Amino acid sequence: PALALSARRLQSTTTSLSSTCPSCGRPLPTRLPSCTNCWTIGDVSPSERCHDILSVPSGPNPFRVDTKELRRNFLKAQQTCHPDMWSARGEKERQLAERLSSRVNDAYKTLQEPIPRAQYLLEAQGMGIQEEEPPLEDLEALSEVMETMEEIDTSPDKATLENIKHHNDARMNETIADLEGAFEVPDYSKAKSELIRLIYWDRIDKGIK
Ligand SMILES: [Zn+2]
Repeated sequence: PALALSARRLQSTTTSLSSTCPSCGRPLPTRLPSCTNCWTIGDVSPSERCHDILSVPSGPNPFRVDTKELRRNFLKAQQTCHPDMWSARGEKERQLAERLSSRVNDAYKTLQEPIPRAQYLLEAQGMGIQEEEPPLEDLEALSEVMETMEEIDTSPDKATLENIKHHNDARMNETIADLEGAFEVPDYSKAKSELIRLIYWDRIDKGIK
């Protein structure tokens, strides 16, 4: 019960993303409610999108993310809500900083790589893929994965492995481009099939390593 109470207390501090501090009105370094001018930190609503948390554009194509900009914004965001920096301000502040940090980390993990990014965008459309779905959906890609994995398992020489990797990298890039195209339309069922294919190629990639 004590935990639920404190969670409710924290929830009441939820603020929306803003470029100025809701408390002192000064410009914020990021859009997160974390101000080192007046030392006020808030929480963001669970419904805030990953793109908004990290201040990267979600349109016109939410799949197209500038990874350099993403990294830069992530580091900046991480800095403003680092729990170590806030712990001296009090227990409530430390907790809020931890929450904010984990939101920032999650948003970064979600957007950084194409597979979780596509899955996130499809989930928002109610079309996310289930864990057990990929092996059954695309039989052609599945048989290709199985053949390639067998080839990897029979421990070929370095040149053959490099060749498999080269071929697979090209296929991954092609699928990522198709995925981007599908989100551009947007055609979510096509995006879903491309995501499933990408998950297969990713298995090969992990199998080589
Ligand atoms: Zn402030």
